[in-house]
Order: sequence, then structure tokens, then C-alpha cells
Amino acid sequence: MKQIVVISGKGGTGKTVISASFASLAEKKVMADCDVDAADLHLLLHPTVKEEYDFLGKVARIDQERCTQCGRCQEVCRFEAISDFTIDPVSCEGCGVCAYVCPQKAIEMVEDVSGKWFVSETKYGPLVHAKLGIAEENSGKLVSLVKQKARQIAEEEGCEFIIIDGPPGIGCPVIASLSGVDVALIVSEPTLSGIHDLERVAGVAHHFGVRSLVCINKYDLNMENSQQIEEFCQSHGIEIAGKIPFDSTVTEAMVCGKSIVEYSDGKVSRRIKEVWEKVKEV
Ligand code: SF4
Ligand code: SF4
Repeated sequence: MKQIVVISGKGGTGKTVISASFASLAEKKVMADCDVDAADLHLLLHPTVKEEYDFLGKVARIDQERCTQCGRCQEVCRFEAISDFTIDPVSCEGCGVCAYVCPQKAIEMVEDVSGKWFVSETKYGPLVHAKLGIAEENSGKLVSLVKQKARQIAEEEGCEFIIIDGPPGIGCPVIASLSGVDVALIVSEPTLSGIHDLERVAGVAHHFGVRSLVCINKYDLNMENSQQIEEFCQSHGIEIAGKIPFDSTVTEAMVCGKSIVEYSDGKVSRRIKEVWEKVKEV
């Protein structure tokens, strides 16, 4: 069984369009939406939720009877979550430093529901996805949980692939989504910031020893920048899995709630199919 993660240096590069297309092209697979801060794969896959679970995070709570109001916890909280010897659960990131330094042992870390995760059925197969609460952190932990469940289902059902729609950026959730995967497909776009974002995310994948492939989305919007991306990839030994042209049918497919490869047999679909073949081959 092979795990493929689709990532990008930032949001809005077309990552989910490609993940959803892979979902309809791959046989015997489980999908995992690990973009838990802005999950949207479900908009294209129309899941029917079969199982729903709470995702528990931790927040600090002060026992006012024990607290001597020494102020030590307030000094050490980097997230300014404590004022007047009271903890604001929304600002608290659950790091536990305040509980560690409190001389009175007056701070307890308690469990708090910070999101939900789901196992669903779609017409393409099982989907594990999640929703993190507003202003909640710990998304790296939630990503790991979603991947772990997807792997379990893939093993039980004898699947060939786990297709992961990864989070954008280079933070903790991206690192969690890269862990243990066989290949990362980085979706890039031909803008100056896109090139910079690609360099950063490719650096993270390389650091964690994950083989990367690059797909340039809307490559024909700026041929010069696309050329720069290709040169960057060449000089870093990263293979280009394909170049996808701009086409308004992609938006039309999204409005209809379909993956582009299902919606049309045009040039974008043909190129995405080629990218999938390349990823499969690798
Ligand atoms: S460190 Fe402990 S005793 Fe001091 S103010 Fe905070 S909770 Fe109260
Ligand atoms: S657990 Fe961390 S973030 Fe929360 S109040 Fe304590 S020090 Fe601040």
C-alpha cells in the first residue's frame, strides 16, 4: 500500500482539484483530507458520514482555592491566555507550561473538544476527514489521527493507495502529513510568490526524506515563471510530474460539485490523468 500526499506552499493552488481527480482515477484507495483547518475535499466527494468522533485537545484550568495569585503562570504564558489569574480557554494552546511552573500545583490540564473527525463513504471509496474548531490549534495531531485511521481502513480493505489532500504551507500540520508517505506531489503555480512557496515546501519534504514530484498548475498563465519553476526543479533533482493549463472548466466543475476528470474530458483532465500515471509509476 502506498501513501501519496498532495501539498502546496500555500492555499489556492488547485491542490484539492488534483486530489479529488486522483480520488476518481485511482482504484482501491482510501482518501484522507488532512487540510483540517480548511477542509474542502468533501465539497467535491459528497461524503455520507458513517462515524463521527470528538477530537480532544487540552486546556489549562486554575483551581482558585489553591492559587495564591503569585502571577508566575501569567509571566510564562507565551499566548497571553492568562489574566487576573483566570485562563481564557480560546487563547490557551494547551502547552502546559503554566501547570509546570505553578508552585501551588493549582493548574490542571483538562480535556476539551477542539474538533470532530469523521469516517465517511463516497462513491469513490472511504474518506477520513476532520473539522477543527474555530481558533483551535493542535492541527498536526489531528492530521496524524486522520492519517492513522485512513491507514487502518486501507489495511482492512486491502487498498493499494491512500490519497492525502495535505494542508498548505510548511507548518506543523504539513510535517504531520508528510510523515511516512511514499511520495509528495507539490502543486505549484507560476507566480513569484508561488516559486518561493514551492522552494520552501520542497525543502521541508527533502528534510524529512520524502520524494517529491512537482505539478505546475495554470502553467500557461506565465511561461517565464513556469520556466523558473522547471529550472528550480531540475537543479534540485525534483521531477516534474506534469503541467496543467488554465481552463475555466475547472471552476465550472467545482460549481457542479464534481472532480474535473469526471466533469470533462478536456485538456485539463487529460493532463491530470497523465500526472496521475506519473505519480503511480513513481
Ligand atoms: S502560578 Fe499557580 S499560584 Fe501562581 S498565580 Fe498562577 S495558578 Fe496561581
Ligand atoms: S497551557 Fe500554555 S497556553 Fe495555556 S494558559 Fe498555560 S501556558 Fe498559556
